This record gives sequence, structure tokens and C-alpha cells, in this order.
Amino acid sequence: MRIEVDRLESGGETYAHTYGPDELSLNDEHVHLLPGAKVEGSAERKGSKVRLRGKIAARVEAPCDRCAQLLIVPIEVEFDAPYMPAEVLNEATEEEGIELEAPDLDLSFYPDDSIDIDELMREQVLLALPTRLLCREDCRGLCVVCGADLNTEPCGCGREEVDPRWAALAALKPKQQ
Ligand SMILES: [Zn+2]
Ligand SMILES: [Zn+2]
Repeated sequence: MRIEVDRLESGGETYAHTYGPDELSLNDEHVHLLPGAKVEGSAERKGSKVRLRGKIAARVEAPCDRCAQLLIVPIEVEFDAPYMPAEVLNEATEEEGIELEAPDLDLSFYPDDSIDIDELMREQVLLALPTRLLCREDCRGLCVVCGADLNTEPCGCGREEVDPRWAALAALKPKQQ
């Protein structure tokens, strides 16, 4: 979905969209948006500046960090995103000396007089995803030797039982020469 900036009423408008199956890819091979994800909010325009506010309610499918079992993660985010036209950025970089007022990391730029809500959705959902995803706190992960899921079956590799967190660290350690 896109918002056409030149058609926005200056008083503000509301928007809402529900994503269907496979409508939006998150551009991450491991994380998928499940159908029914919703974005809604308001768009306000002042000159060429646009402020998008709203909320996202979505569910994504992503693998457990340790055992790769797929999990369904609910995501609820509220956003308040200021936008400026991309030309402003181009002009500012072309003509040295012009600086954007208060460099704002949260500021986004829109090209071609329209704001891509899908892009906003992608960013917000991936940002809201927890950095650590576990199917359960004590997930035992996969055997580093044979790949068996240690939550369901003990494998015959005969290694000592170690906390999977330490196993992961051990795997990262450079081999002693
Ligand atoms: Zn797991
Ligand atoms: Zn094993």
C-alpha cells in the first residue's frame, strides 16, 4: 500500500490495511509475515512534510535460535514516523553547506510523491522482533555433532550434557593449535 502525498488533505487522513497471504515479504529468508497483519493510523501533511502515526498488529513466523523449530511471534508496535521528500536530501547533499535541520535518525525520505507503507511495515516488524527467539527458555537446541533435536531425543553422540548456551560459545571458540 502507498500513500499519495499530493492527495493528502492537510487536516490529515486515516488509513488502514490488512495484508493477505504472501502479500508482503519481509525480505528475510527466515522470517515470514502471517496473513491478517494489520496496519492503521493517520497521515498528516504540512507542506511537503508528512507525519505518519499508527499501529501494527501482526504475527510472524520465525525459527527458534537454538533448535530452528518455527515459532509464531505476535508483534504489536506503535509508530510515529516523520517523512520528508527525497529531493530535500538530494539537494542537501548536492549543495554543500546546507544542513538538514537537527539530524534526526528517525526521519525517513519518500521518493516520487508517495510513501510506501509496505516498507514502513517491513522495517517496523523486523525492528520489533525480539533479538532472542526461543521456543522455550530451556530449549536444548540441536546436537552440534549429529544435528538431532535434543528436546525430543537424546542422541548417541555421547558427549557430556552441557548447557546449550555454553555449547554455542564453545563452537565459537577458535580451535587451539
Ligand atoms: Zn528451540
Ligand atoms: Zn548427536
